[in-house]
Amino acid sequence: MIVLKDDRVGDVRVMLEKTQALIVAAQQAATRAYCPYSHYRVGAALLGSDGKVYTGCNVENVSYGLTLCAERSAVFNAVGAGVQDFQALVLVAGTVAASATPCGACRQVLAEFCRPGLLVVCATLDGSITLRTTLGELLPNSFSMKGTVSASLEPAARTSGIVDELMDNSRDDAKDA
Ligand SMILES: [Zn+2]
Repeated sequence: MIVLKDDRVGDVRVMLEKTQALIVAAQQAATRAYCPYSHYRVGAALLGSDGKVYTGCNVENVSYGLTLCAERSAVFNAVGAGVQDFQALVLVAGTVAASATPCGACRQVLAEFCRPGLLVVCATLDGSITLRTTLGELLPNSFSMKGTVSASLEPAARTSGIVDELMDNSRDDAKDA
C-alpha cells in the first residue's frame, strides 16, 4: 500500500509529484491485468482522501459482459477499505503509443463518490501523460436522483431560455396530441 502524506493538494508541485507516484502505481496495477481476450492492459490508481493509493486493473471474463474495468476495480477496492472520498485518478492503458479515457460506466461510478473537480490523468502504459482533465469535464451531466436538470446545466440553460423553450414545446405537443 502506497501512502502519499501531504495535505497541500492545491500546491502544483506537490500534485505533480503525487501524479508521478500514481502513474507508477497504475503501471504496477496494469501488469496484474487479467486480459487473455483483448490483451489490452489497464491500470488505475485512485488517491484517497486518507492519502492512500487504491489500485485496480481490468479483469476480463470468458462471458465478456462480466468484465470489470480497472477504474471501477479501484473504486470498489477503496470503498471496501472504507474510503469514499478521493483526490485524483490516474489511468494507464492500452499500448505504449496510445492511452484511453474512462468508459461511460466508470465515469458514472466515479461520479457516485467523487466531486466534479476530481483530477483525472490519462497516460500510456509507459507513463506518458496524454490527457489531464476533471471528472466534471468527462461527465458533465451525470445521472442523479436530484432531478433531470443538473446543477451544472441549470444556470446556462435557464439563462439562454433553452429549458423554458423545451418545456413550452412539450406542453404544446401534449395539447396537440
Ligand atoms: Zn470502464
